Amino acid sequence: MNATEHEAHRLDAADPGHRHLFHVPPADGGRYPDSAYLAGNSLGLQPKATRDELLADLDAWSRLGVEGHLEADRPWLPYHALLTGPAARLVGARPTETVVMNSLTVNLHLLMVSFYRPVGERSRIVIEDSAFPSDSYAVRSQARFHGLDPDTTVVRLRPRDGEENLRTEDVTAFLAAEGHTVALVLLGGVNYLTGELLDIPAITAAGRAAGAVVGWDLAHAAGNVPLSLHDWDVDFAAWCSYKYLNSGPGALAGIFVHERHHGDAALPRFEGWWSTAEATRFEMTPVSRPPATVEAWQISNPPIFAMGPVRTSLELFDSVGMTALRERSLRLTGYLQRLLDEVTADRPLTVVTPRDPQRRGCQLSVRIGAGRANELTKRLRHEHGVIADAREPDVIRFAPVPLYSTYHDCWRVADALAATVEAAS
Ligand SMILES: *Cc1c(COP(=O)(O)O)cnc(C)c1O
Repeated sequence: MNATEHEAHRLDAADPGHRHLFHVPPADGGRYPDSAYLAGNSLGLQPKATRDELLADLDAWSRLGVEGHLEADRPWLPYHALLTGPAARLVGARPTETVVMNSLTVNLHLLMVSFYRPVGERSRIVIEDSAFPSDSYAVRSQARFHGLDPDTTVVRLRPRDGEENLRTEDVTAFLAAEGHTVALVLLGGVNYLTGELLDIPAITAAGRAAGAVVGWDLAHAAGNVPLSLHDWDVDFAAWCSYKYLNSGPGALAGIFVHERHHGDAALPRFEGWWSTAEATRFEMTPVSRPPATVEAWQISNPPIFAMGPVRTSLELFDSVGMTALRERSLRLTGYLQRLLDEVTADRPLTVVTPRDPQRRGCQLSVRIGAGRANELTKRLRHEHGVIADAREPDVIRFAPVPLYSTYHDCWRVADALAATVEAAS
């Protein structure tokens, strides 16, 4: 490679990020004490603050028992409200439009109870062909739940032949032509496989103009790219917190419901005691009185020790800010792209993520020989201390995360690929 390790170190000195706030795991059983961790799109790293914050919540339980609901330093009854402001700022929502609850696919189902309401010809659900399998299973099972055939109800949008990514104009043209048959558009904001960032406002506008409801799965977008869900008029959205949001494996997820749907008594929702307005919750009446906010979609009292890591992480995002993170992300991913251009030029490797920075977040996906993704990813880890994420058969995903990844991490990725994949002779 022409790019030098020295240059990477120089860039890190000039543009340092926040790596010191995270635990970066060693690779290969400690042989590489400091790994190049590029798998934050799969599982984000642990903020160093998380442990003490979690212990403080545990201590409140040991000291206070049931009184902790009201008397803990961070009382448990209104605990979820501590997360609302930072979550809303992260996705560009009003505080009444977001709440942290449950896990992602569970939330997609709860939101589809309200927002997937097939009527006659308007019954189809539009997803992308490369949707994350959980989303595909979720929409297919929703179709079946409504007595519909999932094979004809679920429309899978594909890129044009020979192309890797969906074109916005193809999605909007489809919606203009066939939108009258579509009940729900449910796409990934950033595709988990290719890293493509869809044009969320344009597709939302096209779907709504066609009379469909438009929801977004933001698992790979929240904490990765700036979002303005309220202004973009998105109907609903859901995301998980264990990828870019660094809240730990299986962490509690977030939802957004646009305020125009709040208080709509005609919308079906599944309810529990947390769906009723806080002021009346302990009146223990048989009929709920839901608030005219997104909190009407809550069902159960939340697990406080799972809320803690989400709170800690969201506060960190709040203090750094998505604008600054996105700017560093563009620099870091631009640098990795430049290095990969050099490595892929004479090797059987292709970057399938869009080149246009406006059409991607931080992740770059590299296509390699079919069936080699796992094997090559293992070699990167064992031989170079580079932790990336394989998607069999042929994609390896590298995510330089702007909070904690470094230019040197990017350099190690390119250097390791150059050493591991034979140049074509
Ligand atoms: C990670 C991810 C999921 C995971 O779903 P869970 O319910 O959190 O297990 C679902 N959908 C997408 C698009 C994802 O990226």
